[in-house]
Amino acid sequence: MTDPALQPPGPVVVTGANGYIASWLVKGLLERGFNVHATVRDLRDPEKTNHLGAVARGCPGTLSLFRADLLDPAGFDRAMADSTLVFHTASPLIVRNVEDPKRDLVEPATQGTMHVLDAVNRTPSVRRVVLTSSIVAIYGDAADLGDIRDDRFNESHWNTTSNARHQPYSYSKTLAERLAWEIASKQERWDLVVVNPGLVLGPGLSPHTKAEGVLVMRDFGNGYYRFGVPDLEFAVVDVRDVAEAHMRAGMWPHASGRHILVAESRTLMEIGAVLRSRFGDVFPFPRRTVSSTAALMLASRRGIPQSVAKRNLGYPLRFDSSRANDALGMNFRPPEESIVDHFRQLLDDGLVKPMARR
Ligand code: NAP
Repeated sequence: MTDPALQPPGPVVVTGANGYIASWLVKGLLERGFNVHATVRDLRDPEKTNHLGAVARGCPGTLSLFRADLLDPAGFDRAMADSTLVFHTASPLIVRNVEDPKRDLVEPATQGTMHVLDAVNRTPSVRRVVLTSSIVAIYGDAADLGDIRDDRFNESHWNTTSNARHQPYSYSKTLAERLAWEIASKQERWDLVVVNPGLVLGPGLSPHTKAEGVLVMRDFGNGYYRFGVPDLEFAVVDVRDVAEAHMRAGMWPHASGRHILVAESRTLMEIGAVLRSRFGDVFPFPRRTVSSTAALMLASRRGIPQSVAKRNLGYPLRFDSSRANDALGMNFRPPEESIVDHFRQLLDDGLVKPMARR
């Protein structure tokens, strides 16, 4: 945080500011005294903005809200005026029951990236853009690990196996990140720094968030896995660490390139075991891993195609996050802390209920 070009008083922009990750980012920026220009798709919906107002109270920074839709080419200019730093987090996150991959994922992700970066190009004060990409821009399916020379994925890898029919969310994130690098390479005024988080867990700042990690944790609480879990592994990272990594990527002068944000991988069974040991038998936590046939059925019931399930069930998922540790000084919380804190918050918000109280 030593480069004066990246310090206040210039406002800092956060797109999709009401989201699960972005809300923690906005909180961190406000606590550090930044003036945050937060873009939200629907300003009239109190579920999207109330928690941001609550977060801003008592912070040294100020919060201003702007309406902006990823599909609107001119939506981001007003929010960006006089800003030095832009965090582009907004992107649709749908992995279950995708209706129309092109309309619902690929177009908003890619057009949104283009519209945001076009606005950056029109705003002479901007010096840096931080893009929230994902590990899914690095790999397509866990089975892909068998096709690389390394024993784990790193920042040199790109997802080459997803398309609009197979893993469309991953495809949308890959196209969006590639597009961002391409647009950034055509100019020299601002630099692009990318963060690639794994499955993000940890408490949310709004009870209305529906990010994928929240849905996974709710599945544990509502008994979806009572008869067992599929043999599936996730690369986990805490939402508070992801927000911190964004801030360092934005403010550390020498930050550059991509950064995998992953603490460690855990299987669904391991996540269930952590929950059972902490929250006891009043929840229908799983006690075993189900057969691959049963796992394929569970995937179908969750709207996950069989082709996707087959290339991920039973495969290890490993990432090298040493670059985030070295270049951004990250020291990720262990997944157990994120899992416990996340479930406790869902419990406090009444989003999961012990069996006796259902
Ligand atoms: P989230 O809570 O669903 O946030 C997504 C944000 O994008 C929301 O603010 C959403 O606004 C906004 N958005 C979606 N479509 C939009 C549109 N057409 N116009 C304007 N805004 C739109 O999920 P999240 O986990 O915080 O995700 C934030 C970013 O992190 C995304 O880029 C996601 O791909 C990435 N990421 C997430 C994870 C994870 O496990 N959660 C992991 C890796 C990367 P609405 O609330 O109005 O829909």
